[in-house]
Amino acid sequence: MDRLLVVFVDALGPMQREVSGSLRALAPHATSLRGVAGFSSGALATVLTGASSAEHGRLCLFSARAKGAPRSPLDALAWMRWLPSAVHERGPVRRRIARWLAEREGLTGYVALHRVAPQMFSWLDIPERDDLFEAESVGGARTFLSDARAKGVDVYAARWALDEESRWKSAFTALRERPARLSFLYSSDLDGALHRDGADPRSAERVLDRVAERVHRARSLLERDGSRVRTVLVGDHGMAEIHGAIDPRALLEREGVRHFVDSTMVRMWGDRARLERVRAAVERARWPVSYVDRAGLEAWSVGVDGSPWGDAWLVLNEGHLFAPSHVGGLVRGMHGYGPDAPSSRASLSSDGELDPTVTELGSVAGWVRSMMEGWS
Ligand SMILES: [Zn+2]
Repeated sequence: MDRLLVVFVDALGPMQREVSGSLRALAPHATSLRGVAGFSSGALATVLTGASSAEHGRLCLFSARAKGAPRSPLDALAWMRWLPSAVHERGPVRRRIARWLAEREGLTGYVALHRVAPQMFSWLDIPERDDLFEAESVGGARTFLSDARAKGVDVYAARWALDEESRWKSAFTALRERPARLSFLYSSDLDGALHRDGADPRSAERVLDRVAERVHRARSLLERDGSRVRTVLVGDHGMAEIHGAIDPRALLEREGVRHFVDSTMVRMWGDRARLERVRAAVERARWPVSYVDRAGLEAWSVGVDGSPWGDAWLVLNEGHLFAPSHVGGLVRGMHGYGPDAPSSRASLSSDGELDPTVTELGSVAGWVRSMMEGWS
């Protein structure tokens, strides 16, 4: 029997793959894929569905509410604005509230509040509401996992919400009991290590050698009955070393434009005249950014209908960081500089030949589907 093992490694870019000899030995056929705009919530949805952000509706953790949208899970946090900021700004408090919210609203996707001010909850929304590995479709786009399940293929998908250690452990247990025909495993440690340590190759090597060991173990479990196992490793982006930070608060407050600051970009909502004023102010302040208007966002396959993601963006040049932002502070490594930045490229590798037509993140799902043709 043929089995397929797909391993999604968060932040596995082509440069990261290079540092781990064990990973290269495990999957010697490799290429580098063009990435997507935004962060992992969009990139992972694209890997699983083959659709763009404009189609599946995932990009960043926070979007603006559509006009006339019924309600957002964030409505349940209206009370937070009455808490003193000294209390609600504490990390452990925020994490506890996020867990409470996920439980109360039945959210199985990744829920985090980071540093978003409670006053902003009234116009923001959280699009990632369900577990991408279990969902039948993401914004109407089917995943290759749900396609396989619908065909009656035996599928194992990692439990993403567990910590790295427990997630692999539960995967080994499951694959030992019942070797699935299609297994989708997930590793999140590399992303965390690279945000913390920047481009330090020893940090990436340590994490990736461990990933390689675990993938090898999973493959051995699937091969026990003499099955042939095809292994595919895919990342969602790489990582850039940070060498400059900008505090965006004073300028944005002065301009009074509605905005959300992710680590690498400011997403803004407003009329053209106001946006042009911000653009001029940013030029005067010599921010190392590109101004991306609606046409530019459409070219990046970002859905602009109802502008959930902003009417214009200021995207930092690679290697810079907004700190503080609404999602974090100073770190040594970051990604999210638009689809054409080198750090947005993702690594794809396998123990078998690759398909030369797979050159971007969005074509991985189609390739995986083609490898399952004839399965039932
Ligand atoms: Zn990351």
